[in-house]
Amino acid sequence: MCPAELPMNERSRQAAKIQENPQDYKVCEGCGSIVTSRTTACPSCHAYQFDPGEQRVIKQARALARRNANSVLSSDLA
Ligand SMILES: [Zn+2]
Repeated sequence: MCPAELPMNERSRQAAKIQENPQDYKVCEGCGSIVTSRTTACPSCHAYQFDPGEQRVIKQARALARRNANSVLSSDLA
């Protein structure tokens, strides 16, 4: 197993989980991070505006899974 592949695998796994339960997540309007529906302020940019739409969450999860670095999947912070 190549250790360098682990972060991407973990990322894909998390994105898959989000797509299976989009109702538990929402998308930050400030930075596009995906946070859990319980989150009140974005841990990345401290915005209070979120889009809870399931289609938006699914679309964003796919986009984040494809991206290699830097973007935040902060659903594990809440
Ligand atoms: Zn944000």
